[in-house]
Amino acid sequence: MQGFFGVFRYSRRALELVWHTNRGLSIAFALLTVVAGVLPPLTAYVTGMIVDAANAAIRAHSEDASQVVNLVILEGILVASIAAAQRGITFCQSLLRAQLGQRVNEMILEKALTLTLAHFEDSEFYDKLTRARREASSRPLSLVTSTFGLLQNALSLVSSGALLVRFSPWAVAVLLLAGVPAFVAEAKFSGDAFRLFRWRTPETRMQTYLETVLAREDHAKEVKLYGLGQRLLGRYRDIFHTLYDQDRALTIRRDLWGFSLGLIATVALYGAYAWIGISTVRRLITIGQMTRYFILFRQGQAAVSAILSALGGMYEDNLYLSTLYEYLETQVPEPSGSVARGPDPADGIRFENVSFTYPGAQQPALEGVSLHLPPGASLALVGENGSGKTTLIKLLTRLYAPTSGRILLDGRDLADWDEVALRERIGVIFQDFNRYQMLVGENVGAGDDRYFDDEERWRTAAEKGMASDFVERLPAGYYTQLGKWFRDGRELSGGQWQKIALSRAFMRTRADILVLDEPTASMDAQAEAEIFEHFRQLSQSRITIVISHRFSTVRMAGEIIVLDRGRIIERGSHEELMRLGGRYAHLFTLQARGYR
Ligand code: ADP
Repeated sequence: MQGFFGVFRYSRRALELVWHTNRGLSIAFALLTVVAGVLPPLTAYVTGMIVDAANAAIRAHSEDASQVVNLVILEGILVASIAAAQRGITFCQSLLRAQLGQRVNEMILEKALTLTLAHFEDSEFYDKLTRARREASSRPLSLVTSTFGLLQNALSLVSSGALLVRFSPWAVAVLLLAGVPAFVAEAKFSGDAFRLFRWRTPETRMQTYLETVLAREDHAKEVKLYGLGQRLLGRYRDIFHTLYDQDRALTIRRDLWGFSLGLIATVALYGAYAWIGISTVRRLITIGQMTRYFILFRQGQAAVSAILSALGGMYEDNLYLSTLYEYLETQVPEPSGSVARGPDPADGIRFENVSFTYPGAQQPALEGVSLHLPPGASLALVGENGSGKTTLIKLLTRLYAPTSGRILLDGRDLADWDEVALRERIGVIFQDFNRYQMLVGENVGAGDDRYFDDEERWRTAAEKGMASDFVERLPAGYYTQLGKWFRDGRELSGGQWQKIALSRAFMRTRADILVLDEPTASMDAQAEAEIFEHFRQLSQSRITIVISHRFSTVRMAGEIIVLDRGRIIERGSHEELMRLGGRYAHLFTLQARGYR
């Protein structure tokens, strides 16, 4: 039964959501629901009165039909009002749907802005986010609609019951009791379905992922060339069949039980008809009352079955809302620090015995790292893939916090820094930098939000990032749309994108720590060397950190650190490390030989 009560768990919150979205529409929606719930039994009542009035006139041999006609007009008005109420409900729903969808999406995205990187990298969490987004526009309203539908039918049931009581309280009891078995079955199966949905999210997640791989432009190239399409589609299909089999089993059970138990309700209905008929023949009630009770009984039963099916539909909406609220209520660490400058600006960056293990990982990605970079220093990080270079940058930019040890900037622990002040100090271009499907200029301007639209600054930055030459040859220059998702979007080569990304870093003229994590890998060696020259000119009093596999670049750095499985194994200038004859010297010689 617990799963069944889960069906109502989020109704209150869905109602609150709708209420805060648009109060006027919510009130209208609620009032119209009440009207649509109460009026149908009233029409039944009037129908009975019409029959009785006609009957009375016939018995009195009177030809005066005015009372009958008046009552017919009254019923017509009632029926028209029901139609109007239902129309009004639909109207409120469509307006609310649009507003609610937008509101929920905004809530989801606003929350996303406060999340940490670790959240995005957690698959289950990411799954919550995607599911919450995908159905944001339909689910909350759907839950409110079914909750109100439930209310409306409950009202119908109560009003029908109140009128039926005059015939016999037993009739009301039959009406309610006949619905109980089907109700219990529905409760059980709703609970089962609720659990089934929760339990199989990993499969659904895989399906969503396969859809992305099969149908998105950035995956299409490889899928085509390696001929992966059929295999992936096959997987997609297999998952469907597994899920479908489970669904079918549940649906069959549900419908068989629903039908069998529904029969009880039908038997009860016709039993009641017979009872009402017999009572009429025995002159216990009039023909008008008989008509009225027939209709009331039928309406009451329709309300019972509508309530059942509303419950059936609500479990899915609840499932959605539970995901949504779990997502929205995710604990995010309070932005900790508040300081905007440190006590000792001449101290620069300091790592003190820093270790870091990714959440859920067995091995530390960094272990016992200590280093010191005063303003003006330049550092190159060297090491095999997976040795921890990017992780070091992620810690420095406070995307993650060290597991142990501490990182200081200007003599102050990074954790104490105000987030905005800290981020303003640092310009980073990662190897997997973003390729915004926006204008070229905006792609550059993204480097400094304050000057996002400043064409003057775009140009200067692009100049330094060596992007200006090819940008000026584009059809609309800095106003060329990039990316294939939009009309007239241009695609750039890998190296051109990298130049755009570098220009983005040059937008951050105020940042005094610049980090380049292999963004130049697709550029030719000469272009890379020139870029670094620009950076060096820029960075007299700045700190530059580069990650590169090209030793022609690495050797320009003042200090070189060689990482291996998260530990520093060698450090020093190019000359010192060559003299040492260790790993660095070995790798350098290998690469130099390749060039000869
Ligand atoms: P590099 O930049 O030197 O190639 P990284 O710093 O990216 O290496 O990775 C260091 C280690 O941490 C690798 O073993 C990698 O598998 C692991 N790692 C990197 N990113 C994550 C992550 N988001 N979650 C868990 N482990 C990660």
